[in-house]
Amino acid sequence: MKSDFSFEIKIVYDDICAQPGFLTGFGFSALIYNNLSKTHLLFDTGSKDDILIHNINKFNITVPEIKKVIISHNHYDHTGGLKEIYQINHDIEIYVPLHAVKSFIRDYPEAQVQTISDLFEIEKNIFSSGQFGDGFLKEQSLFLKTENNDLIIISGCAHPGLETFILKSKIISNEIKAIIGGFHGFRNLNFLEGIEFIGACHCTQKIREIKQRFSEQFIDICVGNSYLF
Ligand SMILES: [Zn+2]
Ligand SMILES: [Zn+2]
Repeated sequence: MKSDFSFEIKIVYDDICAQPGFLTGFGFSALIYNNLSKTHLLFDTGSKDDILIHNINKFNITVPEIKKVIISHNHYDHTGGLKEIYQINHDIEIYVPLHAVKSFIRDYPEAQVQTISDLFEIEKNIFSSGQFGDGFLKEQSLFLKTENNDLIIISGCAHPGLETFILKSKIISNEIKAIIGGFHGFRNLNFLEGIEFIGACHCTQKIREIKQRFSEQFIDICVGNSYLF
């Protein structure tokens, strides 16, 4: 029997807006409830731990309930809350791009740090894209596959180009239903054709153009919002 939904995505960190009682800050973070495995995962951690933890708790979730944290890339607006998350929950598994592993092992020598190089199923129906990017900066996105084979992409900053992650995701499913997160300098807007839910936020430079062209599909991402897929 199919469940009512596969994933609930709660926005716990973003720059632009917040619902009453929630706080904004520079950076991005999303709390994902996987209804297929009944677990909570955190994607990125914003820049400030107090804001992050306030927003998580405001959703009535406590940090010890979170089993895994996935860090898209090693920029402080995505790693800033990690230290406090780890302080509260030493059992949490930390998934980082292989390229950045040295600094995470140095900062968290006792932690369970898992490295990502290629496409990898982190847990039931939740995949890392694998690490992409040139030089010193490598980044991973998340691909969530619902029970209906719809795909949701969650992006940190998309420094290697959002197209890179969109193309990679087709290995999992051709039905991209939603993209949420930072799109950074992404400008090949044709890649967004056919996507129902476009939640560009955080560092997206072309946010106004994207909203204008895809006015029906564009979703204003706000801290405190949650979305079921
Ligand atoms: Zn970045
Ligand atoms: Zn960023």
